[in-house]
Amino acid sequence: MAQADSEKIGSLERRGLLFILSSPSGAGKSTLSRMLLDADPQIALSVSATTRPARTGETDGKDYHFVDTPTFKQMAKGNKFLEWAHVFGHRYGTPKAPVEDMLDAGKDVLFDIDWQGAQQLYQEAGPDVVRVFILPPSITELENRLRSRGTDSEDVIAARMERAKSEIGHWDGYDYVLINDDVDACFAQVQQILAAERLKRRRQRGLIGFVRDLVRGG
Ligand code: 5GP
Repeated sequence: MAQADSEKIGSLERRGLLFILSSPSGAGKSTLSRMLLDADPQIALSVSATTRPARTGETDGKDYHFVDTPTFKQMAKGNKFLEWAHVFGHRYGTPKAPVEDMLDAGKDVLFDIDWQGAQQLYQEAGPDVVRVFILPPSITELENRLRSRGTDSEDVIAARMERAKSEIGHWDGYDYVLINDDVDACFAQVQQILAAERLKRRRQRGLIGFVRDLVRGG
């Protein structure tokens, strides 16, 4: 193929997508998000705002925007969130402006949000949203993973296990459900979903012009 043809095909305009990864904590969602961001320069992370305190090793602005409750409430009142929800007694929200900027810049956006956020984003931007739910292979494995993080107290782990079970009950609000038994295999599936979703006809806005030229013999 001539280089000009290949450049033309590569630069076809595509509608950006909102890619949601949800799971109960400990099912491997953060690892999968990190792998995806490292492997794929076309997708960028939506950094949520939260009122929960930072955990050891977390960086403000990178993992979350850590804000106090009055600041969060003010942002919500000012319509600065695409969605927000109460999770584990804290508030979490997706700031609107950075998502719009990323989509304008031609990027897809990755969201690490819970089922409530997935539902709200779907209501806001249905056709552009792809929802993926990650299940752990078993409850025992989930508990082992939560414990091995060593960041949470027993009380917090017990609360997270309860929450995980209720979160799992929302599996049917998603387009894709994966079982994370082997993280590499699960990551390959995430990449396959993203690749197929990017190729959906309605997302490829540049196709109309391309096909028109094609049948004209261009
Ligand atoms: P963690 O405190 O463990 O970082 O996150 C707790 C839960 O909150 C996770 O299920 C995570 O996906 C969810 N979460 C993080 N950011 C947001 C957000 O902006 N909106 C919503 N709805 N959930 C979020």
